[in-house]
Amino acid sequence: MRIDVLTIFPQLIDGYVGVGILGRAAGSGLIEIRTHDLRDATTDAHRTVDDAPFGGGAGMVLKPEPVFDTVSAAQPPRPLFYLSPTGQPFRQSLAAELAQSGGFSLLCGRYEGLDQRVRDELVDDEISIGDYVLAGGELAALVVIEAVARLIPGVLGNQLSPADETFADGLLEYPHYTRPASYKGLSVPDELLSGNHALVADWRKAQALVRTAAMRPDLIEARGGISESELALLERFDLSVADL
Ligand code: SAM
Repeated sequence: MRIDVLTIFPQLIDGYVGVGILGRAAGSGLIEIRTHDLRDATTDAHRTVDDAPFGGGAGMVLKPEPVFDTVSAAQPPRPLFYLSPTGQPFRQSLAAELAQSGGFSLLCGRYEGLDQRVRDELVDDEISIGDYVLAGGELAALVVIEAVARLIPGVLGNQLSPADETFADGLLEYPHYTRPASYKGLSVPDELLSGNHALVADWRKAQALVRTAAMRPDLIEARGGISESELALLERFDLSVADL
């Protein structure tokens, strides 16, 4: 998988992807992340990438030439996504889709944003990582890269984890506990200590349902509510969807 990032701050991307699971994934050849400094495509002494907006107004706008020239020289893998608060919300489903692709590219904005002609002519789609405004697209690009990379087979040590976690089946994940079984008088639920795998699975499903209903009722609605058999499961553990 090749991921190209177009940015005026390649060091922000290179620093983060060089360590941890991303660094290991690159080291073992599972992913290749190429950063392209938009300033390398400038021709003036100041390496200027921004200019004032036509029509006036506050802030500066990323000029079209450095982006067009970088794309032309680097031929980054498609689709090319522009990170923008106006883009489609980034979800686990898109991360999973991208993890099965051969690669993609991310264009990071700065200042007030990007000349519209780049968006119209070069960009394939736009991604937002949330309803808030950052100073630049680099953090958003890293969010996308990490969410995608950890779904590529071999990147995580334990291949079961992505299939079993929050959003994988439209629910939030169940609670986790580790040793000691009792800490400061707080005990781990008996079901998890029972050694009964079916019971553990049922308890986790019930907990996931209750947690999702409390924290993210929109996810329960999106999956069509809670079924009769799931309600019976909750009852078995003396839980109701009002519980957390
Ligand atoms: N003027 C723009 C607007 O109102 O939509 C905001 C520009 S923002 C200050 C600068 C850059 O940060 C954007 O071009 C984009 O690349 C990035 N950015 C900011 N918020 C983002 C978000 N929620 N998701 C993805 N990228 C974001």
